[in-house]
Amino acid sequence: MRHEARCYDDDAGECPGALTDVLVRSPGASAPGLRHCGHSPDVREETAMHDHRKLGRELGLFDTDPLIGAGLPYWLPDGATVRHTLEEYIRAAERRAGYRHVYSPVLGKRELYEISGHWAHYSDDMFPPMELGGEQVVLRPSLCPHHAVIYRSRSHSYRELPLRMAELGGMYRSELSGVLGGLTRVRAIQLNDAHIFCTLDQVAEEAQAALKMIRRAYEALGITPTRYRLSLPGPGGKYVAEPEKWQRSTTLLTDVLDRSGLPYEAAEGEAAFYGPKIDVQVTDGAGRESTLSTVQVDFHQPEQFDLHYIGADGAKHRPVMVHRSIIGSVERAVAHLIEQHGGAFPAWLAPTQLVILPISDTELPNAAALAQRCTRLGLRAEIVGPERGSLGARIREARLVPYQAVIGAKEAADDHVALRLRGGRRLDPQPVSDVLTHISALIGANSTDLWADATS
Ligand SMILES: [Zn+2]
Repeated sequence: MRHEARCYDDDAGECPGALTDVLVRSPGASAPGLRHCGHSPDVREETAMHDHRKLGRELGLFDTDPLIGAGLPYWLPDGATVRHTLEEYIRAAERRAGYRHVYSPVLGKRELYEISGHWAHYSDDMFPPMELGGEQVVLRPSLCPHHAVIYRSRSHSYRELPLRMAELGGMYRSELSGVLGGLTRVRAIQLNDAHIFCTLDQVAEEAQAALKMIRRAYEALGITPTRYRLSLPGPGGKYVAEPEKWQRSTTLLTDVLDRSGLPYEAAEGEAAFYGPKIDVQVTDGAGRESTLSTVQVDFHQPEQFDLHYIGADGAKHRPVMVHRSIIGSVERAVAHLIEQHGGAFPAWLAPTQLVILPISDTELPNAAALAQRCTRLGLRAEIVGPERGSLGARIREARLVPYQAVIGAKEAADDHVALRLRGGRRLDPQPVSDVLTHISALIGANSTDLWADATS
């Protein structure tokens, strides 16, 4: 149903930075994301069921309004919870991996993008500049130039390298209104981005570590990559002309992929304008492939911004920039998660993690006490009382919630809870504190398991 839009192939390779909004139609591709519920991606109505735009509205995650504008979705509270949780997961993973976070403005002078090369190679996808006091200011099409300038603002010794700079920051793309919809093609993008400034010797290890972070994140998010792609320049593309640099970075990335043991394919015409990249491809409910994560090696921008570090020899040396994104744009990542899980998110990501179902009004005080204990533990719980219908109806209504805690007279008297897991599995009544400890541990570990039987 989204095929009325212009062919997505048009965009292949137009990634300025750790960009991920490249969609390539891939008709024969399987949709591994649908495996959890056994739906075939080939059945049209089931594909529609997993359209993130439809689900996003039904589940109250996000929406759009013509008055705000096409391609400018807003996030409703449940969607904002998913997004915030995802962003915090990424920030924590980056902190553990030695990244430092920065904030940089979403605007920059036109000159900044002339230096970076975006103006020459990418301006078709940029918003027109705004005139301001004799200057031209641009909504940024990528975060790289700001990070290069931040790096350049202080002198750096080789001892500080690799210097890993991360930001979840806004960037903008002037998509035509005809191709906009949902979260996959938006004009305002929140990018999970990072730039590692390092020596040539450090590039392979940093790229390898980034791939490892991507694999770990996919595990926690329940995402199965379709394939790894080595994206190379193609004929006629708008690439910076520095053949020996392209060759060097291609060799580096090829080595990284070969040593990782991951199967990959090389694809011409998919590179960023300044260098080749490793792209991690996923497939949506309609069988279309897109890039979610990316690792890139860049010799071009360090040169353009005249970046350097002081080496052990006391002389100035040029660092290399590794661009990497674990989940790409937050919008595309959440769109993919919605479609992949059909709204049944891993428990740690779910807007409501535990629904509390008192059988009658008599158990309402126990339900309220349980909700409070959940809140103290940082769990997102909601009480759905008898005024909302029969127990069966309430369980059906909460079918996407990972945990359903039923409290009847007996459970209330014993401070127990009868837990049902999403999917219908029922556990014997257990002490409330045991259940909460167990659930908190699984959620704290970003597990995709709802229950670990060894301890049940
Ligand atoms: Zn970048």
